[in-house]
Amino acid sequence: MNKNQFSQFQLSDEIIETLTLLDYNIPTAIQKVVIPHALAGYDIIAKAQTGSGKTAAFGIPLCEKISWEENLPQALVLEPTRELAQQVKTELFHIGRKKRIKIPALFGGMPIDKQLLTLKQKSHIIVGTPGRIMDHIRRKSLILEQVKIVVIDEADLMFQMGFAEEVTAILELLNASRQIMLFSATMEDKIITPMLAFMKDPKYLLLPDAKETKGSITQSLYYVNTDDKFTLFMKLLIHHSPSSCMIFCATREMVNTLYQKLRRERVRCGMLHGEMEQRDRLKTIESFRDGLFSYLVCTDVAARGIDFDSLTHVFQYDLPTNVETYVHRIGRTGRNGKSGAAISLASPDELRLVDSIEYYLQDKIPVIPLPTITEEQKKQFREKQLEKPILKKRKGAIFQKSITNIAIGGGRKSKMRSGDIVGAICSIHGITPEDIGIIDIRDRLTYVEILNQKGEMVLNALENKPIKGKIRKVSISRKRN
Ligand code: AMP
Repeated sequence: MNKNQFSQFQLSDEIIETLTLLDYNIPTAIQKVVIPHALAGYDIIAKAQTGSGKTAAFGIPLCEKISWEENLPQALVLEPTRELAQQVKTELFHIGRKKRIKIPALFGGMPIDKQLLTLKQKSHIIVGTPGRIMDHIRRKSLILEQVKIVVIDEADLMFQMGFAEEVTAILELLNASRQIMLFSATMEDKIITPMLAFMKDPKYLLLPDAKETKGSITQSLYYVNTDDKFTLFMKLLIHHSPSSCMIFCATREMVNTLYQKLRRERVRCGMLHGEMEQRDRLKTIESFRDGLFSYLVCTDVAARGIDFDSLTHVFQYDLPTNVETYVHRIGRTGRNGKSGAAISLASPDELRLVDSIEYYLQDKIPVIPLPTITEEQKKQFREKQLEKPILKKRKGAIFQKSITNIAIGGGRKSKMRSGDIVGAICSIHGITPEDIGIIDIRDRLTYVEILNQKGEMVLNALENKPIKGKIRKVSISRKRN
């Protein structure tokens, strides 16, 4: 009997096997309510935030419903930021791994030509930001004819960032019978009402928010004048010496300033804000996830929805003006049954703001006396900053073990097609179509994933086997998805 509790949803074996590999054995609260409704085809309005497992809540039904044979996109996932688009693409890609689901991510700040080439191939799920998706629709490089499911993720941020018109325009272009799933951290009328016009009798799935999980998070508050803020912050950092933390600031300028100051103190950290180059932002997120540095200074918007595992601490260098943001920020730590600490700095003239946060929490945030730091603590902290970082294992690494990426000479320019590749590889003794993963045909090269640890076998056989009438150059590729 399969012990994976996702079996209760009657998912295909391929999806259950992948979930087990990902170590998703017990559905989270949001997954328990969303998955059955989504599989049954209902329109959904769900209140859920980062860390609740909401990506898999829509990702599992999405991947389950995709038919591999169809060449045109069958689902559209709209994300407010490029980083989120990338993150969600990766999560869906992992869930759909065994079904070999192709998921291009379309967002600005990245070359459009590459995206155009990718869209010429089979694509099952498109993840992207509304602006770039509209751009591809106008260029007719993205065909919506077969789209049956649309996910509007982080809807509140989407609207806050001014994407309402584009989202509406996209919905208007879709088939009337499509299913819509909307996820939002807040349920304001101004977000929900315009979307209702596109939905049929939606199911409202409201879950308790992070307030109720505060049991595992120790909160503390320090009052400090602006001039003394950095000095106090350094003391707190040395005192707590977090294994990994996010440090929230109110503005991009503050992120920059704090980052520079920390670097001057030789603290190994990174920063994330909206004015950074796209590539730098994605690189920062990857490096933080990989554990190359452990302290991330950021703004709310840039870090919104980005999932970082096992943060031990969250610092609010500046308090947010929105009470819900306070809850979202602290909810970044104390996840998965682990304990976490949320430490906030406030200036004496922010008493009213603190009051309103406490009113929202229905609880007092303890004001803690300033810690005294010993020379020994300082020394240990400095030494810790100089230690070689221990790289964390990437999610999905489990899949990579059994997959070999092979590069084959010949691509679109020589009219190479997936069928030519599949035909040649499947004619190798001991290889079946199930051993072939994603095929990516470029201009002069084709990348093929060989699954089930059969890479070497295929590589050797292809050295003497013609593909489309010719012996091709074949090699192992380091291309990463
Ligand atoms: P999300 O709220 O979608 O950003 O997900 C938060 C984190 O939980 C991600 O790192 C997911 O990979 C992970 N996750 C999602 N569902 C499960 C599950 N059922 N069991 C364990 N981890 C999960």
